[in-house]
Amino acid sequence: MDFRLSEEQEALRESVRDFAREVVAPAIAEHYEQHTFPYEIIRQMGKMGLFGLPFAEEHGGMGGDYFALCLALEELARVDSSVAITLEAAVSLGAMPIYRFGTDEQKARWLPKLLSGEALAGFGLTEPGTGSDAGGTQTRAVLEGDEWVINGSKAFITNSGTDITSLVTVTAVTGTRPDGSKELSTIIVPSGTPGFTVAPGYSKVGWTASDTHELTFDDCRVPAANLLGERGRGFAQFLRILDEGRIAIAALAVGLAQGCVDESIKYAKERQAFGQPIGAYQAIQFKIADMEMKAHTARLAYYDAAARMLAGEPFKRQAAIAKLHASTIAVDNAREATQIHGGYGFMNEYPVARFWRDSKILEIGEGTSEVQRMVIARDLGM
Ligand SMILES: Cc1cc2nc3c(=O)[nH]c(=O)nc-3n(C[C@H](O)[C@H](O)[C@H](O)COP(=O)(O)OP(=O)(O)OC[C@H]3O[C@@H](n4cnc5c(N)ncnc54)[C@H](O)[C@@H]3O)c2cc1C
Repeated sequence: MDFRLSEEQEALRESVRDFAREVVAPAIAEHYEQHTFPYEIIRQMGKMGLFGLPFAEEHGGMGGDYFALCLALEELARVDSSVAITLEAAVSLGAMPIYRFGTDEQKARWLPKLLSGEALAGFGLTEPGTGSDAGGTQTRAVLEGDEWVINGSKAFITNSGTDITSLVTVTAVTGTRPDGSKELSTIIVPSGTPGFTVAPGYSKVGWTASDTHELTFDDCRVPAANLLGERGRGFAQFLRILDEGRIAIAALAVGLAQGCVDESIKYAKERQAFGQPIGAYQAIQFKIADMEMKAHTARLAYYDAAARMLAGEPFKRQAAIAKLHASTIAVDNAREATQIHGGYGFMNEYPVARFWRDSKILEIGEGTSEVQRMVIARDLGM
């Protein structure tokens, strides 16, 4: 058992860390405040190859693996989560369904620009009336001749409305199975298709420099060839995508938790109270020690889940554990980092305020903490 990174992995981590500190950190506060999408940062991340990390070179990828993506996400989120979630959603939710389930034609048409970061794709699963219970999907797609006609709406879809969004994959009911249950399928809807409307961006508590919209489909027609993979495989497809995505979200949460440690150490050494730096008080040292312990153990949990996935072993339970633990400790660390910063921690100009606002969604997105517990309990035979 060896948890040390290879030279190549270490080099990737270093280069993303430098990029986060030198390029993301100086520019992101303004985007966060103004709720604007950081196109220039995303363009540079594309040039670095981050959007192609876990994909084969024959499709325009970097020939790395999912763990490489996780390392990059951790380093980005250590500085900023809006940029990190944009990459996470673009790769593991946007491009991955086409990479895993698409036809050769679909891959050739869509992947090159998605993997270079010149285009983004959204993953349209959640609906206004149903999130955790994805089987409750109401959006319908009916095959009329050689076209799917889609009607319904989707809620909270990341990367669905940027200037460079090229498509959204939409989960829809396409029929009824012999046992009476819904037949779910996934359909590719290109941006700009008539009948596909993107609502203005939500006003969010956190991740304010990321792109999130409600989408509506009103007699939206796309070619029959836009079906992703087999008809009726929609449920299995999104379960696989979400299982993997949980490891990536865990890595992002670890990054945020570690960023809280970084900022807290810096502040505790500078801030004076009662004649000495607050970092000299054991109460503050213990908070920081606990924060480091939590970030470290959550990192081991996502390393383990990623290692199992890459080895082709079952990883559903470990991915849910990693996501549940990492998101919980990210919220803990953000709260404690804010506490260590006192009143300044409540001021938006301090990174810890951003960490605090960005942490809560980690316990909700890509499966709530309750859903992770359901997955773990089910895997334990309950
Ligand atoms: C910023 C942001 C970005 C997002 N990006 C995307 C995206 O790109 N694509 C996408 O498809 N979705 C996206 N989502 C949606 C996200 O995945 C859902 O919000 C999440 O899955 C929860 O669904 P819900 O909001 O409908 O909550 P609900 O499912 O309504 O849950 C409400 C509460 O009830 C609890 N609950 C539900 N069922 C049970 C049960 N059986 N037992 C115990 N408790 C239960 C939940 O845990 C939660 O606490 C995004 C959300 C946000 C906020």
